[in-house]
Amino acid sequence: MSKVNRCKSCGAMIIWLRTKSGKSMPVEYFEINDNEVEFDINKHTSHFANCKYAQQHRRK
Ligand SMILES: [Zn+2]
Repeated sequence: MSKVNRCKSCGAMIIWLRTKSGKSMPVEYFEINDNEVEFDINKHTSHFANCKYAQQHRRK
């Protein structure tokens, strides 16, 4: 399983998955099954969409 990280803004547990286009996407830890490494828009939610501090990121 991928390494668990924490969101620098809110401290949520996230795992970085790879999208089909080769980018890295932070996904909620609880949404990811063992051995999943690729972001699937139908199964996973980007933490950027959930993070309550996301608007602050955008404001910069
Ligand atoms: Zn966050």
